[in-house]
Amino acid sequence: NREIHLVKRPEGTPGHEHLAVVENPLPEPQAGEVLLKTLYVSVDPYMRGRMSDGKSYVAPFELNEPLDGGVIAEVTESQDDHFNVGDIVTGVLPWQEYSTAKAESLRKIDPSLGPVTTSLGILGMPGLTAYFGLTDIGKPKAGETLVVSGAAGAVGSTVVQIGKILGLRVVGIAGTDEKTSYVTEKLGADKAINYKTEDVRKAVKTACPDGVDLYFDNVGGSIADAVYPRLNKFARIIQCGAISSYNLTEDKGPRIQTYLIKSSALIQGFIVADYQERFKEGFQHLSKWLKEGQLTYEETITEGFDNIPDAFFGLFKGENIGKQLVKVAEP
Ligand code: NDP
Repeated sequence: NREIHLVKRPEGTPGHEHLAVVENPLPEPQAGEVLLKTLYVSVDPYMRGRMSDGKSYVAPFELNEPLDGGVIAEVTESQDDHFNVGDIVTGVLPWQEYSTAKAESLRKIDPSLGPVTTSLGILGMPGLTAYFGLTDIGKPKAGETLVVSGAAGAVGSTVVQIGKILGLRVVGIAGTDEKTSYVTEKLGADKAINYKTEDVRKAVKTACPDGVDLYFDNVGGSIADAVYPRLNKFARIIQCGAISSYNLTEDKGPRIQTYLIKSSALIQGFIVADYQERFKEGFQHLSKWLKEGQLTYEETITEGFDNIPDAFFGLFKGENIGKQLVKVAEP
């Protein structure tokens, strides 16, 4: 049974030297547990933070232990009445081909809601992040202008579409022309900016003639620097992520304070787990919109257990459109 372990904590950009594939015997489920075959593994930007041992909202990965995260798996042996062999479940599970888990830590996936992979994307953590960040922190009003960075990613692509559902003018920022076309043509944004080829400050000014009322920030850094000067009075900034800084070893800004003062803007960070009590509500909205065809989603699926590290590293190089997953096995 193969496992992927963290063997060295990265400083700066993570690479293969920080991870190792390790063989161990197949685990055996105890009473109240199930044996699981991993089908899909989610790789997420927040995992970079867990590779370091600084203080955070989630505990660091242990050295010489498997990393873990969102996984879809099939029950292959059950020592618990709630699960049968063949059930497809999701939970936070180790990066292993097979693993055991306590039954209460797992959720059965309802296949009538859509392909099972949506439980790690639009109907999972990234979808809920988009929904609660935009609606609860952003408090959007129809007609306002929303700028979304990381707009072609798992969270950003959902934010763009919810923004349109709620009647906002939406401007997305992403790193390739393929992504900006996706953001306007498939997701329905009014404008999209390629931050790698355009002068982002000028482009934001042109794309937002009435200024920016809401900024859903997934990336921080120089893109945030370009958006802040356009903030309208009482703008709301939803600080969801700052991926441009996760691999930095020194602070590079952004310098936002003056702009917050000038615009009387409100900035709030959050983690999706803050909304745990309301997940059902978010889930109901997302699945309704998905069913009605008001939401669409994209997945980038890398094949093979051994390619989990590369799929993870790819997040920092912009290799994914929509949710990045790794397919490990067929059910
Ligand atoms: P994505 O699917 O958006 O994947 C990451 C994307 O980030 C890449 O495809 C790339 O797109 C972009 N990116 C990478 N490096 C940079 C950079 N230096 N500057 C600008 N863009 C960059 O990931 P998620 O949707 O899962 O996550 C998006 C953000 O939301 C992350 O910051 C993440 O940490 C955060 N997050 C926060 C949560 C919370 O609870 N607060 C929960 C989930 C996610 P491109 O080609 O456009 O550069």
